[in-house]
Amino acid sequence: MSLDDNDVNILKVLQWNGRLSFRQVSEKVKVSVPTVSNKVGNLEKLGVIRGYHAELDPERMGQTSALVTIKAKPANLSMIAERFKADDQVRQLYHLSSGKLIMVCTFLGSHLVNDFVKRLASVPEIQEYDIANVISVGKEFDRAVVAPGVSIVVSCSQCGREIRGEPLRVKINGSTAFLCCPQCVSTFSALNGSKEK
Ligand SMILES: [Zn+2]
Repeated sequence: MSLDDNDVNILKVLQWNGRLSFRQVSEKVKVSVPTVSNKVGNLEKLGVIRGYHAELDPERMGQTSALVTIKAKPANLSMIAERFKADDQVRQLYHLSSGKLIMVCTFLGSHLVNDFVKRLASVPEIQEYDIANVISVGKEFDRAVVAPGVSIVVSCSQCGREIRGEPLRVKINGSTAFLCCPQCVSTFSALNGSKEK
């Protein structure tokens, strides 16, 4: 499903500053306040906007970050990821197509890095790991790139399948449901007592 230019501009403004009011966003994007409010509500519902948070500076808080690369048998990677996911020191965890895991970790103090290394070494399924402290941060930004023509993946409200093209829409109680095919539209409409739009 593609986003229109106003969606894109609203996302750009909010990615830059999530604390702006709808009025401030509407002035920057040059659309009405209700349009901003509707569009932001939709983008939140669709899961494109995951949340709003303060961006904290770990270096200001005297913390040390490290990048960890883990190599293991493909069958063990998910289990290893599960093992480290709940750890508060693990801030980002990515499963790579090269069959490795990469973790961005932040430690309250540099002495805690050694404890983490011990933990890595104690997991027998880890074949190889590499850990290196971050010396300076060159760039750090949200992973999402907001650009004209960006499209989003929505799930079918009936069958849950991911819809990659343009979804079919059904209005129900003022909100829009997205559906993948005419079959799902009729099932969904029958179950929810709504008319296809
Ligand atoms: Zn469906």
